[in-house]
Amino acid sequence: MNYSRHHVTPRSRIRKSKNTVLLPEKFHDSWHYIFGDLTPIETIFFLKELNARMHKKRIITKGEIQELREGIKEGRNETEPQKRTKGKHQPTRS
Ligand SMILES: [Zn+2]
Repeated sequence: MNYSRHHVTPRSRIRKSKNTVLLPEKFHDSWHYIFGDLTPIETIFFLKELNARMHKKRIITKGEIQELREGIKEGRNETEPQKRTKGKHQPTRS
């Protein structure tokens, strides 16, 4: 079986040491196809929101899935992690 190195926290978004794990290649490719470069906590919110939508709709388009992913990354969704920490921690944006 072939393995490839996965950055648990996406290196494109957050620099962190001791952040890699070897995953079977097909699983790794599938992970990024579904979750893109979401952080682990964003992945949980993505799944939660996607699950809620799957109970409400008969069709969910590729565009809606992409929009959901981007919305979570940018803090545009109700379930977005940053909104839950408002008041406790205000991240600065540059
Ligand atoms: Zn990866």
